[in-house]
Amino acid sequence: MRIAVVRETAPGEARVALVPETVQRLGRAGHRFRVESGAGVRAGATDADYQKAGAEVVAGRTAALEGAELWARVRRPTLAELEAAPTGSVLASMVGVESPDPLLPVLAQRKLTFLALERVPRITRAQSMDVLSSQATVAGYKAVLLAAAELGKVLPMLTTAAGTLAPARALILGAGVAGLQAIATARRLGAVVAGFDVRAAAREQVLSLGATFVGPEASAEAEGAGGYAKAQSEEELATTRAALAAALPQHDFLIATAQVPGRRAPILVDAGGLASMRPGSVVVDLAAETGGNVAGTRPGERVEISGVVVLGPVQLAATVPVHASQMYSRNVQALVEHLATKEGGVRIDPEDPITSALLLTLQGQPRGGP
Ligand code: NAD
Repeated sequence: MRIAVVRETAPGEARVALVPETVQRLGRAGHRFRVESGAGVRAGATDADYQKAGAEVVAGRTAALEGAELWARVRRPTLAELEAAPTGSVLASMVGVESPDPLLPVLAQRKLTFLALERVPRITRAQSMDVLSSQATVAGYKAVLLAAAELGKVLPMLTTAAGTLAPARALILGAGVAGLQAIATARRLGAVVAGFDVRAAAREQVLSLGATFVGPEASAEAEGAGGYAKAQSEEELATTRAALAAALPQHDFLIATAQVPGRRAPILVDAGGLASMRPGSVVVDLAAETGGNVAGTRPGERVEISGVVVLGPVQLAATVPVHASQMYSRNVQALVEHLATKEGGVRIDPEDPITSALLLTLQGQPRGGP
């Protein structure tokens, strides 16, 4: 398979879709690579590293894409980039939360097959391709570091000659991939951690990480298709908020990660809840891009509301580009192996359950939503 790796163009995006280590591995299976010069540099991979891994490094996107059967990206390409893509090629990329509709005319015109990597089904067989999980793992970890850096307290208990410092208290809302990683990271840094999720399975996972469980009873009915949470009704959400209200003033920082696929994120902390937190408390709202779990969160911004610092980072995994790229790259490797024919070509089988879930377009034709 002729595979191209291009430089990411979204502002602040430092990841790269394929790292040299993966290029070398796939190269051993006979796949050939063209890499745009500088594509990996912000993720710690130099042109020389790619060359050593067996790739051809070329200047500019157009040269990298020339003759490619498959090209890999982290973030959705611009229209201009799509226009430069080889007709009939396959693009493996995240598509993002914004509507893909503006891309459709160019995808059709260039007969491009767009594999939207966020749509990897949450099944065991596809786990190695799951970019949402790999990037959420990094984001959950980094969210705790952002909170720790903002907080006017240390996280661990410290017993010193100058007295004993109590450990910081963390509350993690939503215990999926990012939330569980946030719980584990906060615990490692010595904080006392509590978690909450609507799903009963998540409750067990919160407890198994040594955190306590707060809020209303988690329920088996809260889980819908694919292991995701179902959307709660307004009444259920009001109950959740009321139950969480008692916990908020007792915590120094809050990491919010609750999401429902295809929906606005549920509001779990309203203005009153935020005001009940002590001044200097910190909120990191990882759901900011889909509307936020906390009233007043602004995507990509740091705001202070009632004395509480509220961060709404977007694409947080991009701020840990080396390891985020390494994991993303292994996801893309698994996808390439899934798509490769015995002869080394690319086969897009719309009947295959994993491939069909990913198809945003097949040779330019839209294939419907997730
Ligand atoms: P997500 O990002 O969609 O949501 C994050 C968390 O928010 C979830 O745990 C969800 O239950 C929770 N949530 C939603 N609404 C809430 C509310 N009102 N209040 C509190 N919490 C709320 O989820 P995710 O991290 O992508 O994981 C979703 C599920 O998929 C999990 O069960 C996870 O274990 C599973 N998973 C399976 C695989 C696999 O088998 N391949 C891979 C990854 C994840």
